[in-house]
Amino acid sequence: MAQVRPTVEWLAQLVACRSDRTEEALVALLARWLEPWGARITIQTVHPGRPNLIATFPGRDSTRSLMLEAHSDTVGGEEQFAPTVREGRLYGRGACDTKGAMAAMLTAIETVLTEQGRPPVTVHFVSTCNEELGATGAHHLVASGFRADYAIVGEPTDLMVVYAHKGTLRLRLGTQGVAAHSSAPERGVNAIYKMCRVVQALETNVVPKLAEVRDPLLGNPTLSVGTIRGGSQVNVVPATCKIEVDRRLVPGEKQDEVAAGILSALPADVSHVITEYYPPLGQDRESPLVRRVARALGESRLATAAWASNAGVFAAAGIPSVLFGPGSIQQAHTEAEFVELAQVEVASRVYAEIIRQSAEP
Ligand SMILES: [Zn+2]
Repeated sequence: MAQVRPTVEWLAQLVACRSDRTEEALVALLARWLEPWGARITIQTVHPGRPNLIATFPGRDSTRSLMLEAHSDTVGGEEQFAPTVREGRLYGRGACDTKGAMAAMLTAIETVLTEQGRPPVTVHFVSTCNEELGATGAHHLVASGFRADYAIVGEPTDLMVVYAHKGTLRLRLGTQGVAAHSSAPERGVNAIYKMCRVVQALETNVVPKLAEVRDPLLGNPTLSVGTIRGGSQVNVVPATCKIEVDRRLVPGEKQDEVAAGILSALPADVSHVITEYYPPLGQDRESPLVRRVARALGESRLATAAWASNAGVFAAAGIPSVLFGPGSIQQAHTEAEFVELAQVEVASRVYAEIIRQSAEP
């Protein structure tokens, strides 16, 4: 491992390895690369075909540890898995969300191993599955007992240190009716009419109260009804209706309390399922971790975000976490996703510096 490979080579291979439906091939690729570097590889199957990978590099001080994490899934889409480089950018699905950060982390680890043989403290490179729809890989990781002293989560932050963001709670609510022939609607119970009263209660009773909750950094929590589905055909009184609700949380709000607050404003016979949960991320901008990353970056470029990420899951499990990575969230999930290669280079230098400084207090 005398010579460190250019980051763009890692990035091109990561983008070419499609991971929008299953992360299996990407995890196998990462394991094949990292095992010869002396990593201890752990693969956790979260869902069929959807694994987490933990590559552990024991440190000279093995009592302390740091996690570099980037999720391995990308959003779907039928094209754009062939990476192309032009005008200093690499285009391709996942280029900025989050394979740019992942490639930069690989370069950083290889750089430090080449310089020092072993990192100063134990480094866990982690790729989690299914971040985009519920962060189930991250939830699985912490439920398995995995812990580190702190985590750097690679997401497209435009090289800003994101130290706080909102959380997300998604609920599916259902009303039950009784089907009947539409020529005799009085014989049935219309589940859509019942759901209309639920939606009205959300809009008039629940949403206005959110304005009373104010986080100094992130503003108000929000609620949005995103989908509604009910009935089977026009000549049948509908027996079921379902909606999906997206509630954004501010630091301090808890999943169970928020869900209970919503349900208490609705009729008692509304069924509910929590389908996705990303805890909010909140910490002081002067926290030791924020200062550590800003020191490695060489400047205090701090930001907050309205979107949620794995960092909230890790922080809720007691792992202080911040987000830092190349690329812009504006390009994430788009048809022309790209990352500026110069940003990827900066990120790889910052990650390497974080590892080098990891033994400092
Ligand atoms: Zn992402």
